[in-house]
Amino acid sequence: MNIFKQILPSKPRFKGISYWSRVTYLSFLHSSTTTSIEVHPPEQEVVIALGSNVGNRLHNFNEALRLMKKLGIQITRHGCLYETEPAYVTDQPLFLNSAVRGITNLGPHELLAALKQIEKDMGRTAGIRYGPRPIDLDILFYGNFKINSDVLTVPHERIWERPFVMAPLIDLLGLATESDVVARWHSFSKQSGGLFESWEKLGGDSLIGSDGLRRVLPVGNHLWDWSKRTHVMGVLNLTPDSFSDGGRFQSVEAAVSQVRLMVSEGADIIDIGAQSTRPFASWISVEEELDRLVPVLEAIRELPEIEGKLLSVDTFHSEVALETVKRGAHIINDVSGGQLDSKMLKVAADLGVPYVAMHMRGDPRTMQSDENLQYEDVCVQVASELYLRVRDAETSGVPAWSIIIDPGIGFSKNTEHNLDILMGLPTIRRELAMRSLAVSRAPILIGPSRKRFLGDVCNRPDATQRDSATVAAVTAGILGGANIIRVHNVRDNLDSARLCDALLKHGRTQS
Ligand code: ADP
Ligand code: MG
Repeated sequence: MNIFKQILPSKPRFKGISYWSRVTYLSFLHSSTTTSIEVHPPEQEVVIALGSNVGNRLHNFNEALRLMKKLGIQITRHGCLYETEPAYVTDQPLFLNSAVRGITNLGPHELLAALKQIEKDMGRTAGIRYGPRPIDLDILFYGNFKINSDVLTVPHERIWERPFVMAPLIDLLGLATESDVVARWHSFSKQSGGLFESWEKLGGDSLIGSDGLRRVLPVGNHLWDWSKRTHVMGVLNLTPDSFSDGGRFQSVEAAVSQVRLMVSEGADIIDIGAQSTRPFASWISVEEELDRLVPVLEAIRELPEIEGKLLSVDTFHSEVALETVKRGAHIINDVSGGQLDSKMLKVAADLGVPYVAMHMRGDPRTMQSDENLQYEDVCVQVASELYLRVRDAETSGVPAWSIIIDPGIGFSKNTEHNLDILMGLPTIRRELAMRSLAVSRAPILIGPSRKRFLGDVCNRPDATQRDSATVAAVTAGILGGANIIRVHNVRDNLDSARLCDALLKHGRTQS
């Protein structure tokens, strides 16, 4: 029995905050213990859905999130991002949809007023019902409450019929039992299996990837449908002490010709790094890193063939990330997952670029210490530690929909660990799914290319002799769920990617 149904008349006319405070207080007595996030009364955990189909939709989402924070909604988790076909009124542009979880002190009507103010400030006018809008912000859940007033119905009435609301809502949950509040949200669905069963009834995960509901990652103003095939990231090392190519590409010309080669061989992304992260490599300063990166980046941007390709910068320095993104890099690839520079996550959030969060313990100098190589179950622990990095990123303002995860092959791992990870990507995804479905659905990047464990297994002490072993490693990784492969030899590994994609598609049509 819900005691609030007794307290609240069916259509209460709220007289300011005092009425609400009473209800909030009683709700606290009723139940507000959580295991995942600390919520202090009168704080409430809320779920807000976002939709946009007018103007720069991505910019609208970012702006809405910024204004929500400003008005007192602390965003804690993000769903994935979906491009969706319009419902109800079908003759209008495609929508962008997602949902977020947050904590707020605002009462429900204050929250509704704040969201309506944001909608108005962002140019929403009273147009046709379900028609085009720069931003739509709906309250799906507000703490434990069922609310039925003249202007507000919570849970939002039409959640259950809308795949574009249910998909990101499901992303905000974990498969493991979370908190009493989340249990209550499940109970709102009226199905014994909770929200998951409601989602299944609508069509579930099979809906995703169709034209009506594409899961995408934003890169610049482009929505990247990364799940359609495996993508190849070609490595460009600008380090004199690089382990695999001995620093052959120090000069700008040599770097540019290597990029042209990788692009001609089919690379989708070029990953440029000037800081060697191999074990015990000596570190260079931010200035030196930029001195090496900037001229190359500027020369690459002039190449006609780079059009449509993505550039990522492999750095753990926020200043390097900032300066290179200003000069055209699209993605930040941070081997430290934000741990080596306290400003990195904030910079990534402000830049609004995709962020590769990699798993590593310690730093490149300490990562192979005995202590950092202790794992009971490497896949389980990589997942739980990586999840913490993603949570840090999300609370710093990097939405989950902009995060690519990398289990960090060769970083604080011995040979056995690397092999476990290559075969254990499904375990890593499963473990992440216990905590957050959005994180478990992020693209996985793997970087086994020419690494020492391949030399150990195949008896190839010379790194340049490890390309065949790399192809085999990449093959195992893609079949286990990797979406992006970071490799030196683009040509050979692209063949692996193509064959794996064909095998995976074939497997699906067989089952
Ligand atoms: P929709 O979101 O269904 O496309 P609108 O954004 O035009 O429609 O909202 C219409 C009205 O719905 C709002 O003015 C608001 O008062 C009311 N409303 C009722 N419940 C909610 C809720 N949970 N979240 C947001 N608005 C709600
Ligand atoms: Mg609305």
